[in-house]
Amino acid sequence: MSQPSRTIPFPLSKLNDARDLVEVRCSYCKRAHVYYPTDLIQLFGDVDVDSLSGRMKCESVPGGHGFLKVERVFSGSREMVGKKIRRLVAIQVKRVPVWKEE
Ligand SMILES: [Zn+2]
Repeated sequence: MSQPSRTIPFPLSKLNDARDLVEVRCSYCKRAHVYYPTDLIQLFGDVDVDSLSGRMKCESVPGGHGFLKVERVFSGSREMVGKKIRRLVAIQVKRVPVWKEE
């Protein structure tokens, strides 16, 4: 059996050190957003970059469009010129009631 091309996890914090950003794209509706690794760490923890493809969801439809394409982009690269970066403003915590009969 052949192994996946990359088996060593690559945590988000490594992108921070390299001044890389994360681009997350939905291949179905072509929507893409660029994020700072620090913002994503706040949300998901210092997880493997590739694992974001299953953790994040396309926001076009409820439930998303399945797996997203995740790529690292160097912040100083030419393709980043004039591009907007999505910043994390707040994390809303949903209050979920848990009941018990007594
Ligand atoms: Zn989509």
